[in-house]
Amino acid sequence: MHNKTIKELSALLHSKQVSATELARHYLGRIDASGHNAFLHVDHELTLAQAAAADARFAQGTAGPLTGVPIAHKDIFVTRGWRTTAGSKMLDGYVSPFDATVVDRFNAAGMVTLGKVNLDEFAMGSANENSAYGAVKNPWDAAAVPGGSSGGSAAAIAARLAPAATATDTGGSIRQPAAFCGVTGIKPTYGRVSRFGMIAFASSLDQGGPIAQTAEDCALLLNEMIGFDERDSTSLTVEQGNVREDYTRDLNKPLAGLRIGVPSEYFGEGLASDVEGAVRAALEQFVKLGAVLVDISLPKTALSIPTYYIIAPAEASSNLSRFDGVRYGHRAAEYKDLQDMYRKTRAEGFGSEVKRRIMVGTYVLCHGYYDAYYVQAQKIRRLIADDFQAAFADKCDVIMGPVAPTVAWDLGSKTNDPVANYLADIFTLSTSLAGLPGMSIPCGFGDGKEGSEANGKRPVGLQIIGNYFAEAKLLNIAHQYQQATDWHKRTPEGV
Ligand code: GLN
Repeated sequence: MHNKTIKELSALLHSKQVSATELARHYLGRIDASGHNAFLHVDHELTLAQAAAADARFAQGTAGPLTGVPIAHKDIFVTRGWRTTAGSKMLDGYVSPFDATVVDRFNAAGMVTLGKVNLDEFAMGSANENSAYGAVKNPWDAAAVPGGSSGGSAAAIAARLAPAATATDTGGSIRQPAAFCGVTGIKPTYGRVSRFGMIAFASSLDQGGPIAQTAEDCALLLNEMIGFDERDSTSLTVEQGNVREDYTRDLNKPLAGLRIGVPSEYFGEGLASDVEGAVRAALEQFVKLGAVLVDISLPKTALSIPTYYIIAPAEASSNLSRFDGVRYGHRAAEYKDLQDMYRKTRAEGFGSEVKRRIMVGTYVLCHGYYDAYYVQAQKIRRLIADDFQAAFADKCDVIMGPVAPTVAWDLGSKTNDPVANYLADIFTLSTSLAGLPGMSIPCGFGDGKEGSEANGKRPVGLQIIGNYFAEAKLLNIAHQYQQATDWHKRTPEGV
């Protein structure tokens, strides 16, 4: 049952071969028996109540394509009922009085929430090791990180603890964990998916999206996820092109003549040989499907790391000021006065990576450094976006390359080296800075050893980057690849 896609589960539900309640019980049983630390908050009663409501819709004939399909929500989307912690001690025990728009939409579609999944604290990280609730184990290899920050979402799909998961991507947090866990994820164009009720990290970059087994499933999920929301001031409007579309419509288009840009900067020094081997083989597969490969250059790629690690902390330092012990979550038990309460609450509530970013962000925004760092970073951000536009203007339709320079690394191997974590984001940050849609699909395996060509048990992800609003095209390309290959069907041993 749990190896079925959303599409297949939906067919079983509609033909009454399984009920939403049976499905929910099946997944809850798997979650309870799993040892990946992917789920942070599970509540059988709440889940089964939603499943019963879904079954009622089937009985009444009002079920839609996602009704009764279980979903796990990244614990950064606020949910009524289930706790929301954003992976932080700061929000330990917090229960939101309202649902995030994304959660609201999936609820309205009749999806059944299985619980909330683990993440790096406030989505800051690339390995899920910054969670205050412990790291997630990669289902493919318990010694490996699952990627981050949406490590729980990706691991839940890989271990088949859920057929669908929400995730967020600020600098790679949908694409990189999807790659490390051998599953499929898409980060839509910035502004497509509402950020209302998605706890803010870096507001000009944060974007929600789905993780699932296949591109087709991601299309089904995006159909519900995307759309204007007046409660999010950066939500793209219908006039700006944010119309709800049927993302399954182009899945079967042939790829003949598709021009794939292959950036030289994505295949240079630092790219592990096992990852390169798998990605190049995927590119060859696209040639077989009728696409042509075009050499392109994205010269500002290397600047995306310093640029992102100025802009994202700057925004985070401002966003996280709301966690002051007054309105939400944790408050220090003893304090002398208001200042002391703020200081102790924040010292106790935030983990070290979050504190580091608040300090960096405060520094780059302070008078005297603002122009040298923050304003400069904003200018480079524009140049990075211009790189992509130059490529899309006349050279290629989409861009492909690796999601990350290596396969998942060993748990604990980079924990005390923040810069090593930052460097691993090299291929995903620029897409986020430009606000473009990006996707990750499984394309092979590596072992993480130097000079090794392939094989091993750690998944490799292929990144597909499109121009603004090109989600349907990305899904079409990914779906065609998944029709021709079976990487997305592989499961970790014992699953
Ligand atoms: N790894 C990046 C960071 O640590 C991106 C995280 C994300 O996309 N949320 O900020």
